[in-house]
Amino acid sequence: MLEFTSEQKMLRETMAIFAEKEVAPLAYDIDRDERFPSESFKRLADLGLLGITVPAEHGGAGAGYTEMCIVTEELARFCGSTSATYADHADLCIDNIRRNANEDQKKKYLPLLCSGEKIGGLAMTEPSAGSDVMSMSLRAEHKGDHYILNGTKTFITNGPVGDVFVIYAKTAPEKKAHGVSAFIVEKDFPGFQRGKKFEKMGWRGSPTGELIFEDCRVPAENLLGGENRGAMVLMSGLNTERVVLGAMSLGISRGAYEFALKYAKERVQFGKPIAAFQLIQAKLADMAMEIELSHLITYKGAVMADRGLHREMNLVAAYAKLYTSEVAMRVTTEAVQILGGYGYMKEFPVERMMRDAKLQTIGGGTSEIQRIIIAREVLN
Ligand SMILES: Cc1cc2nc3c(=O)[nH]c(=O)nc-3n(C[C@H](O)[C@H](O)[C@H](O)COP(=O)(O)OP(=O)(O)OC[C@H]3O[C@@H](n4cnc5c(N)ncnc54)[C@H](O)[C@@H]3O)c2cc1C
Repeated sequence: MLEFTSEQKMLRETMAIFAEKEVAPLAYDIDRDERFPSESFKRLADLGLLGITVPAEHGGAGAGYTEMCIVTEELARFCGSTSATYADHADLCIDNIRRNANEDQKKKYLPLLCSGEKIGGLAMTEPSAGSDVMSMSLRAEHKGDHYILNGTKTFITNGPVGDVFVIYAKTAPEKKAHGVSAFIVEKDFPGFQRGKKFEKMGWRGSPTGELIFEDCRVPAENLLGGENRGAMVLMSGLNTERVVLGAMSLGISRGAYEFALKYAKERVQFGKPIAAFQLIQAKLADMAMEIELSHLITYKGAVMADRGLHREMNLVAAYAKLYTSEVAMRVTTEAVQILGGYGYMKEFPVERMMRDAKLQTIGGGTSEIQRIIIAREVLN
């Protein structure tokens, strides 16, 4: 049985109100216009939630992954894009720097990122290196007090708007995965350029783009976690990322289910609310059950991460990522079905939720990759 502290319950209540009152009214426009949710990002900064896992001395809230999941989930109930923006900034960028940076780097970057003055992102993926991320070819050559970066990253969340990115590059290509290093790169470093911004099916308010490095000069002091230790930096965050993505999928599922449940009670056909029909009831029953299981596996992962069980949680993190994302796809699809023709119309949010849910089975390690991880663990 998962137990939340009174502070965590209060955070959930506050977030639920905030998301319903302030995030939900913007969700349609953000999706239609493919617009970064700047108002909500600023409000999340004001509420002190961006640096949720960062100690107070570096400008954060000093909380944990359970709290990060609560915020991510409640945002995703109403707006996948805002939730993605939050999780990318708070988890992939800020939490990575918290875990791996030295004291000078923390002092320099964390307060600016926690206050929302700077927008963060993380760049692993390249045009030819997706699931096989260690085959990346972005090159970083050590020259005196700088590294010179050349290559391209793609599909980078916050790429078109971000100020600070954690970038992975090859410092010793012959050593393969043991020759990767991580860097903190600012958008104003010479040789850094933004490439194209992608037009997407879902997550449309969360901007996704290319980052291009042409003899980009990165000061040696911005090496994150040590030379050729990038794989360790990367691995240190993969499990928590999967759990946080689980929270996002759970939030999307809840949003679609809650909307469909209310609709089913109100929509009358054949003289009865459609909720009176057993075929609709069966859908609602499956949705409710799968959401409960999504909740359990996600917060099991969050609690393990908060207890520092990062090495022990490979299986739980993969379960959380895989299960919740496939549930989100099923639940949003059934929500559209319950609304019938209205479900297919953009004026009802389940249409957007179904599009947002699809990314959950792809980003942060596809469903196929999660199944490979699970199979490897169980076979061992
Ligand atoms: C909206 C969006 C935002 C993103 N944000 C970021 C970001 O901020 N930072 C970042 O670094 N990346 C980001 N990504 C990239 C994302 O993590 C990758 O898209 C994902 O890891 C899959 O890589 P790929 O798209 O190259 O697909 P591929 O790796 O080419 O996979 C194609 C298909 O082959 C399957 N496949 C691959 N290998 C195997 C195998 N061994 N066995 C069986 N099947 C396999 C995959 O599961 C998939 O179905 C984002 C992507 C999207 C779409």
